[in-house]
Amino acid sequence: MGILEVKDVGKRFGGLQALSDVTLSVQENTVHAIIGPNGAGKSTLLNCLVGKLIPDTGSVMFDGQSVLGRKPFEINQMGISRVFQTPEIFGDLTVMENMMIPLFAKRDGIFRLHAMRSVGSEGDLITRAEEMLADVNMLDKRNMHSASMSRGDKRRLEMAMCLVQEPRLLLLDEPTAGMARADTNNTIDLLKEIKAKRPITMCIIEHDMHVVFSLADRITVLAQGTPLVEDVPEKIKGHPKVQEAYLGE
Ligand code: ADP
Ligand code: MG
Repeated sequence: MGILEVKDVGKRFGGLQALSDVTLSVQENTVHAIIGPNGAGKSTLLNCLVGKLIPDTGSVMFDGQSVLGRKPFEINQMGISRVFQTPEIFGDLTVMENMMIPLFAKRDGIFRLHAMRSVGSEGDLITRAEEMLADVNMLDKRNMHSASMSRGDKRRLEMAMCLVQEPRLLLLDEPTAGMARADTNNTIDLLKEIKAKRPITMCIIEHDMHVVFSLADRITVLAQGTPLVEDVPEKIKGHPKVQEAYLGE
């Protein structure tokens, strides 16, 4: 049994069958990549995992519990965190203030967020936030205004905001989309560092093969809403079905 078990998931948007018969299993403490051409249904699948979309059919089990019918914040509290394609940080808050948001969301649910300004006494959470910032080499920037940071630091902060919740499953939707090669390589290194420091399962949706082959333990290829093949990276490279799926892009 994987930590994440997706079975026969289908999702239709009007006349478009975006996902059909998606079955996949993500093993604990591995990096599982989901690749596929544009429009294959990768983001739709991810949205079904975090409660942003509800599949029409099938089941999604995390650690033996169904996520279906739960709200995004409840799924987050179960131990699933998601990194967005563009950093979702609050520019007018400091790095440290940004770090407190996910900690309160995890502890209290989203409804206590309004109380975040009155958290001076929350020593434990502050310590955790500081430790996490140290982990991603950002402790010296704790009082910086987030808006004024470089793109790379914003990405680091966003990653830290996810990880401080100590998720068991981290979902990443094209974490290097739109990045230059140097930033892409920095992101790959950051994810490797993160993995080396703690037990964590990552499910990474990615278009860039360089990123996938640098990080993934297993790869599922999605095409037209259905898994084509699933295997280790060495077997996926040069697989005729994979090349076929990417032709005509
Ligand atoms: P990918 O992330 O693999 O590029 P998506 O999951 O974003 O693919 O999209 C899969 C298909 O579903 C595409 O044809 C897309 O246009 C369509 N789609 C995605 N979201 C919606 C939506 N909310 N409403 C209608 N169609 C959608
Ligand atoms: Mg997408």
